[in-house]
Amino acid sequence: MDRKTVNVEIESKKEVPAEALAAARHELGEHNGINMSIEASNTFTFKDSDAMNRAFLGEVGPKTGIYIYSRHLNPTILNLGRQIAAMEGTETAYCTASGMSAISSVFLQLCNTGGHVVAAKTLYGGSHALLTHFLPQKCNITTTFVDIVDLEEVDKAMIEGKTSVLYFESISNPTLIVANIPELSKIAHAKGVKVVVDNTFAPMILSPAKLGADVVVHSISKYISGEADIIAGAVCGPADIVDQMRDPHEGPFMLLGPTMNPKLAFEISGRIPHLSMRMKKHCKRAMKYVTKMKELDPNLDVLYPGLKEHPQHSLLKSMSNKDYGFGGVFCIDMKTEGRAYRLMDKLQNNSKFGFMGVSLGYYETLMSCSSSSTNSMLDTKEKERAGISPGLVRFSVGYVGTFEQKWSQFTRAYSEM
Ligand SMILES: *Cc1c(COP(=O)(O)O)cnc(C)c1O
Repeated sequence: MDRKTVNVEIESKKEVPAEALAAARHELGEHNGINMSIEASNTFTFKDSDAMNRAFLGEVGPKTGIYIYSRHLNPTILNLGRQIAAMEGTETAYCTASGMSAISSVFLQLCNTGGHVVAAKTLYGGSHALLTHFLPQKCNITTTFVDIVDLEEVDKAMIEGKTSVLYFESISNPTLIVANIPELSKIAHAKGVKVVVDNTFAPMILSPAKLGADVVVHSISKYISGEADIIAGAVCGPADIVDQMRDPHEGPFMLLGPTMNPKLAFEISGRIPHLSMRMKKHCKRAMKYVTKMKELDPNLDVLYPGLKEHPQHSLLKSMSNKDYGFGGVFCIDMKTEGRAYRLMDKLQNNSKFGFMGVSLGYYETLMSCSSSSTNSMLDTKEKERAGISPGLVRFSVGYVGTFEQKWSQFTRAYSEM
């Protein structure tokens, strides 16, 4: 995508993800069922030996209904990819067995040995570990971690001709820093660097590709699945990157095999049409909680991009799709690990406000102490650098129950602190 089309799209921003999804091709089932069929077979036959030969030469393919083997391409997974691409506004998308396999495949596609990545210092723990330990040790791909808010620092860290990827999360985990996607993309593209954005925290809310990013990755395990019952991921982007990842000789999808099960692809496909409604519910409920919490205790250290005092409040507002909000995750800094644990114990066991657990996007509220759970692989210094205090409690806000019922559960637990 060239810069010009990006700018036009930012200005118009006409088609919001839910509309794009509704406008996308609807796959009917084999017998005109209103849901698509599941293509469960892992291998496919051909009408004759010539057709088989031509399939292997790449002369015919999915466009003419010809498939070879499901690690390469499966029609059900391809259909789910079409939905995800429509949602993200990218040319194409492909789905994988996990968010981590989507992320690691993208790095292995875009970086060669000796390559260099510039990444935000606040990242999902697994992504941080991949860049800190695995990629340098196994592939000689090194990373410079930067403060993603400091555009000058980001610019300086990218080495023209050596850096191939700028990597960050649209809304960071767990510190909820919002990245300036249009500006970061401009800086990176000026140096020939590809921009890869993890949009797990903000599906539907933000469309990073429309704001200038080249590739968008997702952990489907979170909001997109919505039931905390599936591990899955997706890579969204232009065909010249995503389709290349299935190349039989060089592609990480094909050669490392992070393949999604088509039965799972079917299951996820049915949840995407109500993702928009769910995201709005999560966002609205989160905003209501933080507003009430600030009233309840003005000294409470609440972190949420929906609050006016959040440093990227207006930035998020300017980038986000209409009628969503500021995300379904907020944090409270209880200052010490002891107080964080006490609050979570009371909220789960005394008042049934939510469950202690990592992950996010579930319909019930999930709470975790990031420093000692999802980000425990960072050492003390790295946590300090990333702004993860030991008492930080992350709430992934659920939407079940009435607000009044849930708020009374919260205040009951909080009054016992
Ligand atoms: C959970 C998560 C991942 C990893 O995804 P899995 O599906 O668990 O492999 C990556 N990035 C972010 C922001 C996440 O929250």
